[in-house]
Amino acid sequence: MSRNILVTGGAGYIGSHTCKALHSAGYIPVTFDNLVSGHKWAVQWGPLVRADLKDRDALGLCFEQFKPEGVIHFAAFAYVGESVTDPAKYYANNVANTIGLLEAMRTYGCRRIVFSSTCAVYGIPKVLPLTESHPSAPINPYGHSKCFIEQILTDYGTAYGLRHVALRYFNAAGADPDGDLGEDHDPETHLIPLALRACRHGTRPLTVFGTDWDTPDGTCIRDYIHVTDLAAAHLLAMGYLETNKDGRFNLGNGNGYSVLDIINAIREVTGQEIRWQAGSRRAGDPSRLVADAGLAKRELGWSPCYPDMTDIICHAWQWMAKHEGFLA
Ligand code: UDP
Repeated sequence: MSRNILVTGGAGYIGSHTCKALHSAGYIPVTFDNLVSGHKWAVQWGPLVRADLKDRDALGLCFEQFKPEGVIHFAAFAYVGESVTDPAKYYANNVANTIGLLEAMRTYGCRRIVFSSTCAVYGIPKVLPLTESHPSAPINPYGHSKCFIEQILTDYGTAYGLRHVALRYFNAAGADPDGDLGEDHDPETHLIPLALRACRHGTRPLTVFGTDWDTPDGTCIRDYIHVTDLAAAHLLAMGYLETNKDGRFNLGNGNGYSVLDIINAIREVTGQEIRWQAGSRRAGDPSRLVADAGLAKRELGWSPCYPDMTDIICHAWQWMAKHEGFLA
């Protein structure tokens, strides 16, 4: 039996960490990526097919050549603000191109898919921590695009027998503990890499998006989860689909950290000051997002190895030191 797994977006941040985990578990991850936001250097654990998801011929050839036993689907646009100003781009890629992928799976008889979803499907939380039964009410096109695909996957399951797991990530952070992989977005918008840059370069202060939220220190609270722990969940989800039809699971640590908590934790790990300035609130930011990941633990047997913020920051810092060529 083929041990190939097709990984769309396998050259990206979470995708490449998942390819490493797949390789360690004896699979061959076949990365399908247009390298628009992914990186060739991140494809270290199996072949790269450089193509766009909208290229149905390239997708078909890929299924013919590699006969993957399952798909892990990361390829998507993921900037919330951009999704508001250019929703067409998000619906074309995240929705229409994903349907093309599902059609290719039907054509070639591939029946298992693990889908990158997001806590953005919940919108503004009514209760915390968030469980999977919380209503889905996205507040931006990015969240809607992920929500639509979750529904489409359910309908494809009922009609065509396609099995799926949707993994709802909270805030992915950190880097490969061995230093092989890490975060490299352009533009970078995420808190931890920007805060690390602010302490590295010293000159450009970090802007904190709002200090007047209804939280103890006035800054937004998020649940940060190590990217290696996210990667591990994808393998477990693929295994889960051998005996189960579908599932939706939150992936987070269940601990809420404010922006100022993160700044303080970075100060402790790096021993360096971070210059920051208060800015206005960012549109579309809920004040608090914290996961209840109990279901993933019970059903998938998932257990995060790096729940400590110190590890998350340490690994991100070491990666930045190596990748950007300075001494942490
Ligand atoms: N944030 C911030 N300044 C930045 C980037 C992020 O204050 O330059 C805040 C943001 O408002 C949110 C948290 O940090 O409350 C995490 O944001 P990030 O963009 O990393 O992830 P998101 O929560 O949007 O998925």
